[in-house]
Order: sequence, then C-alpha cells, then structure tokens
Amino acid sequence: MKQNNKMMEHDFVAEKIKRLREKSLKNKKAYSKDKLNKPISYWTKKERLKDQIGKEFTIILRTKGCKWALEQGGCSMCGYIEDANIKDVDSEQIMNQFDYAVSKTIQFIKNDTNNYILKIFNSGSFLDESEISKPVREYIYKKIAEIPQILEFSIESRLDFITQEKLDELQKYLPNKYIEIGMGLESVNDHIRNRYINKGLKFKDFLEKLQLCHNNNIGSKVYLLFKPPFLNEKAAIDDCAHSIKEMIKLNVQTISINPCNVQKGTLVEYLWHSHRYRPPWFYSLFDCFNKALNEKDLKKIRILCDPSGAGTNRGIHNCLRSSCNDKMKTHLRDFILHQDLSRLEQIEYDCICRIEYQLKFPYI
Ligand code: SF4
Ligand SMILES: [Zn+2]
Repeated sequence: MKQNNKMMEHDFVAEKIKRLREKSLKNKKAYSKDKLNKPISYWTKKERLKDQIGKEFTIILRTKGCKWALEQGGCSMCGYIEDANIKDVDSEQIMNQFDYAVSKTIQFIKNDTNNYILKIFNSGSFLDESEISKPVREYIYKKIAEIPQILEFSIESRLDFITQEKLDELQKYLPNKYIEIGMGLESVNDHIRNRYINKGLKFKDFLEKLQLCHNNNIGSKVYLLFKPPFLNEKAAIDDCAHSIKEMIKLNVQTISINPCNVQKGTLVEYLWHSHRYRPPWFYSLFDCFNKALNEKDLKKIRILCDPSGAGTNRGIHNCLRSSCNDKMKTHLRDFILHQDLSRLEQIEYDCICRIEYQLKFPYI
C-alpha cells in the first residue's frame, strides 16, 4: 500500500509537469532566421578558475532543446525549454551563433590580462546529437583550441550522452585545455532527485559516468539543487550539505550549487503561485556551506554558486530589501571567487529579517 502511494505521488508529479509543459509550449512561436543565427546570450565576467581568479566567457546557444523536457516534460524546476527552438536548428545556424559570440568578444579577450574559462550552455545537453551534431562539436572544438587565453572549457550534458567516443573527441581536439563536463545530479538522494525533481536519473548511473570522466582525465562538475520542491528549509540544508560531502568523497572537481528559482512553465512555478513553494533564504545557503565545507576540502574542490534571480521573490532571497540581499550577494561572490569560508563568517546579519528567520526556523 505504502509502495502504491509512493508510485501515485510520483505519477502525479510527472504527469503534472508534462501537462504544465504542454500548456506553456502550446502557443510558442518559431524563432526568425535572424534569431537562430545569433546565440540566446553571451557575456564575460569575473569567475573562479581552478587555481586562480579569472574570467568566464559564457555563450548560450539556441538549439532544439533538452530531450528530457521535450519528451517527458523535464525537471520540476527547469524552464530552459522556453528559450529553445523545439524544432531542429540547422548545424550552420548553430555554428553562426557560436561565431557571432566569439567575433564580438575575441578582441576583448585578447587584450585582457585575465585567463578564461569558456562555458557553452545550450539549455540541454551539449553532447546530444539532436541538439548539437558531431560536425558542429568539432567545429567549435577546433576554434577553441586556437584561443590560448582560454584555459578551461566547460559544457553540460545529461548522462546518457556522455560516451567514450565523445570524450575521445574532446581530448583529441583540446589536448591542452582543462575540460569539465557538468552533470545535473541535483541530490544524492534518489527519492528527492526522481520523485520531487523528476530527473529520471539513478545514482548508480551517475557513478558510472563519473568514473568514465575520471578514467579519461576529463573534469567533472556536479550541479546540486538547493531547496527542491517539497522540501522545507531545514530538509533542504541537510540534503544539500549531505550531497556536497558525498561529492567531495567522490573526488569531483567542481560542485555547482543552484539555489532553486521559479522559472516559467514549471511545477515549481505552479507550487509557488499556490503558496506551496518559497525559494531558499540566503541564510540557509550560508548555513549549508558552513555545515558541508572546510578549508581543507576547499583546497581540493572548487565550489561555484551564481544564483539566477537572486534578491527577487522568484530567486533566493531573505526579505525583499535590496540592502539585505545585495549584502548577501556580495559575500557569496567573494566566497566563491576566493574559495575562502572566512568570507562568510565575516557577514554581519544586521537586517531585521534575521529575527524573522530565526523565529520561523528555530531548529536550523
Ligand atoms: S534541468 Fe537539464 S535535464 Fe532537466 S529539463 Fe532542464 S535542461 Fe533538461
Ligand atoms: Zn533582510
């Protein structure tokens, strides 16, 4: 009976996600040719590199979209499919998107004294043939190999698409770059990951792909979701702190913490509208870092966290005073750039909402 209830709970979540997704994509208009020849976005900014402070050059490509989202509705917090084309995007157009971002930025990079990490995101899986074909991947790799200021190259992919062949390809074209593949594990807990986040991914499969990356000298970046739906503040801290510790034990190179934010067309948005979800508090995130990390671990791993929508009611926030959230954002950024926990210890919690938080969550 208990088993049946659990099944129903999962079916309900998965079904609800599918229906919400269908509804939100129903009236989606096709992108113009001009739009498909340019990336969704690109930028440069300060970022923590493996052994130094440097800069990131990020390019967001517009592709067909994440297969998991298109076929199964996707993950409960993810609205990236809203930016995707849904229909196939020509290889040539994707190459044009990449070239556009590079041509607009390359001179700036060349004149800069900083080293760079190039992050290419496509709101899905870079290694999925239906989003980015082999000729496009090879084209991109060859171009990156020619830019010496780029020391690190980062992409992300669902596990199914990470294969020996694709890792060989990366090593072949980019022998002198540090390569990292981002994998959305979200939590080490199978129940939270699959029933609350609808990730469709088993921990044992993750371990297999992690090993494959290690064997091929490819770095691993693991995404963890901070405060998935259906977890309260305390459970979110415990789940994420536990997941961080497990990732350290597994020797992943980078852990990227994503404080959950409310994206369009998602189950999280549905719950948020009906007052059954609130994005996490900054206080909780810092508590989680303090519980999970120590100076010794931070010499071994890199921790990243660059929350979307921070300080707004759709993103991680304390109260909604900008003075309060700006202070939190500054300290978070400082901590990430320097990988130094003492930066979090120095924060003075002087906003009135600190008392509200302590009264609401006396056990944290
Ligand atoms: S989080 Fe990743 S796997 Fe999940 S729907 Fe979004 S892009 Fe797809
Ligand atoms: Zn406040």
